[in-house]
Amino acid sequence: MAAKKDSLKQYRTRRDFTASPEPKGKKPKKTTRPIFVIHKHKARGLHYDFRIAVGGVLKSWAVPKGPSVNPRNKRLAIPTDDHPMEYAKFEGTIPEGEYGAGTVMVWDSGMFKNVKKRGGKLVPIKQCVKDGTIEIFLKGKKLQGAYALYKTGKPGDERWLLIKMCDEHAHARKNPVSTQTKSALTGRTMSEIKRGVKKKGKKK
Ligand code: MN
Repeated sequence: MAAKKDSLKQYRTRRDFTASPEPKGKKPKKTTRPIFVIHKHKARGLHYDFRIAVGGVLKSWAVPKGPSVNPRNKRLAIPTDDHPMEYAKFEGTIPEGEYGAGTVMVWDSGMFKNVKKRGGKLVPIKQCVKDGTIEIFLKGKKLQGAYALYKTGKPGDERWLLIKMCDEHAHARKNPVSTQTKSALTGRTMSEIKRGVKKKGKKK
């Protein structure tokens, strides 16, 4: 097998770690705990970054409207650079002029379980990413239940959709993105993170 290329190169190239508090991260990890994290990111436009651990890195999508718990809502998810695993605990403010400048909150985090089956067999998560058909069960602090990420569109103009799958955790009217606005990691609001208010007595 050819030497695995460092999929974090693009992530590092875009950033100046002497100016940004974001983690530089190490090489992609050999073993990966199946964690997910959703960052709320107030950059030029507010969006949510949906990240899942696959192959030692955080595979990432920018979701302008954030996740929905209503299976009728298909949320656009634009693939972005792989992020290092260390990014899962990052919360803070990226200074003006730096890539992604703005405030970053850990809006939700937890574990996920791959539930994508074909012919009765579980499809490895790496293959799901390649196929553009990801189905995972989230066990987060805010989000629970099965979510799908499907690749659509033509090659070269690919876009993904993030969709809540039908299960007992689906809900037609709830909208956690607008009602649950504090950090899952520190309990802080966006403005408290921006102002650098200390963490609210929560364990890391
Ligand atoms: Mn972002």
